[in-house]
Amino acid sequence: MKIIMLGAPGAGKGTQAKKLSERYGIPHISTGDIFRANIKNNTELGQKAKGYMDAGQLVPDELVVDLVVDRIKDRDCMKGFILDGFPRTIPQAEALDYALNNQNEKIDYAINVDVPDEHIIKRMAGRRACVGCGATYHTENMPPKKEGICDVCGEKLVLREDDKPETVKKRLEVYHSQTKPLIAYYEKKGSLLTVDGTLDIEVVFKKITSVLG
Ligand code: ADP
Ligand code: AMP
Repeated sequence: MKIIMLGAPGAGKGTQAKKLSERYGIPHISTGDIFRANIKNNTELGQKAKGYMDAGQLVPDELVVDLVVDRIKDRDCMKGFILDGFPRTIPQAEALDYALNNQNEKIDYAINVDVPDEHIIKRMAGRRACVGCGATYHTENMPPKKEGICDVCGEKLVLREDDKPETVKKRLEVYHSQTKPLIAYYEKKGSLLTVDGTLDIEVVFKKITSVLG
């Protein structure tokens, strides 16, 4: 099953993608996580991406398309994959379709996690990310067992630089102008599934899996 997650920053794409990955045994590929790992390891890609990310802007298409197209050719993607945070522009979606088409494949579901902007601003202020493994929590909705400490690896939890309210506002603007048109793109292709992302995490998950089977 080939799935992409659509939705505003903070809509819950990563949260649902992780659960879907466990349920269906297919890899969760987050381009945001890939960039953050590259920044942490101070790679050339990380150095190129950092300025855009800190400013709440998108990293240029040419830095992300090949990376994803190569990643989905890996062996662990043979049964499918869940792309989280990609595509984020129409050219990225077209490049993905082109690459899949060449192998007689296509995206099965584009899951649109729908959350209004007012909710997003509140939600992002409570998101905490692990500096070690990147796992995400929420101070109210999904707290770690021990405050400020990652359940998975024991490292510190922080508010991401780009989750600060000023940057979230910028990211929402970018979402509306550049990413939201993808909803119509996938609707036209008949692969769109929209879920109300303001519901509880488990309720959203049940709604998605009731359609995916
Ligand atoms: P995205 O990957 O779309 O940027 P995340 O999955 O990281 O978003 O979710 C953003 C924040 O909201 C996280 O702190 C997460 O724990 C929390 N969250 C995710 N889904 C829900 C939900 N359905 N209800 C309340 N909080 C949620
Ligand atoms: P995310 O963790 O998905 O919210 O992504 C964090 C940041 O990484 C975004 O605000 C962008 O700057 C960058 N990024 C992640 N995925 C993409 C993508 N597909 N295209 C462009 N920029 C991206």
